[in-house]
Amino acid sequence: MEPFKSIVNSLQQPVSGTAEPEQILRKLGQNPRIRRFVDQNPKIEREQWLKNITKLYQFAEEWSACDHCPGLDRCPNMLHGFRPRLLNDQGHPALSFTACPLTEEHEAKQRQSRLISSYYIPKDILQASFKAVDKLEPGRQSALKAAGDFVKSYLENPEAVKGLYLCGEFGVGKTYLMGAIMNRLAESRHIASLIVYTPDFFHEIKSAIQDNTVDRKLDVLKKTPLLILDDIGAETMTPWIRDEVLGSLLQYRMMEHLPTLYTSNFNYDELEEHFAYSQKSGVEYVKARRLMERIRHFTTLVEMGGTNRR
Ligand code: ADP
Ligand code: MG
Repeated sequence: MEPFKSIVNSLQQPVSGTAEPEQILRKLGQNPRIRRFVDQNPKIEREQWLKNITKLYQFAEEWSACDHCPGLDRCPNMLHGFRPRLLNDQGHPALSFTACPLTEEHEAKQRQSRLISSYYIPKDILQASFKAVDKLEPGRQSALKAAGDFVKSYLENPEAVKGLYLCGEFGVGKTYLMGAIMNRLAESRHIASLIVYTPDFFHEIKSAIQDNTVDRKLDVLKKTPLLILDDIGAETMTPWIRDEVLGSLLQYRMMEHLPTLYTSNFNYDELEEHFAYSQKSGVEYVKARRLMERIRHFTTLVEMGGTNRR
């Protein structure tokens, strides 16, 4: 496409007489895409081709950039990430612009990431995908299968699906796997989900008492189609957090048939112990058991092993 550089230079100079544009037009006509359009539109008059020579030039130049695409970030086209199309507008050649495949892919990713919300979770984890998950590591296979089964059942019937309780050591990839679930659901059915780093969220909720925003903040967690409580059990437990915050959150989601997923370093029994103890009120087994029943009954426990990836 090299000749076009010189063509544009000559276009920028005042054109004397008609010989020069004719010459340029001939050169542009050697471009196969323009040639095809010319052949398909025999009724467009010569004068119109000459009048719209800069459009033809822009068309050729931008397609040349697309043929040697430097990536979306460095797209040199006038409409960034768009490609021109030639059309016959009532007898004269005109241009329209459509998003290139890279722009479409980028926009789809953005739409998808808007569906995935998080509080206090590193963004890189939210990029997780099933494709990137290491299938070979033995300790991880059952968790991977359970995650895949969850996605499948959710897509079949979100109201009847059982949540997941993913437990295992620090760093084995529990949060990452949750990210993969969220992305798969967003991709396949535009399902919105929210992942919350539980200790930080509860901390925030405690300070929300002062400015009266507890209900508003808790409402977001109550109503999201899919909620993931990440690292439950790592928070400092208080009776208020257990009974009024977590208790009412899980009660609401249960009534509305909204699934909740968890990651934790604790298994069910260990989490129950954790719920029972608080600095303020000592040991309260009954309340801990009542809350734990909501979690046990509505989730499947999956242990995740493997190496620490941090
Ligand atoms: P956990 O929640 O079990 O403590 P994370 O999910 O935070 O562990 O994973 C620990 C680190 O390893 C994170 O930086 C995460 O991005 C990375 N990681 C985990 N699983 C994978 C994976 N399958 N492929 C690539 N990186 C992973
Ligand atoms: Mg984690």
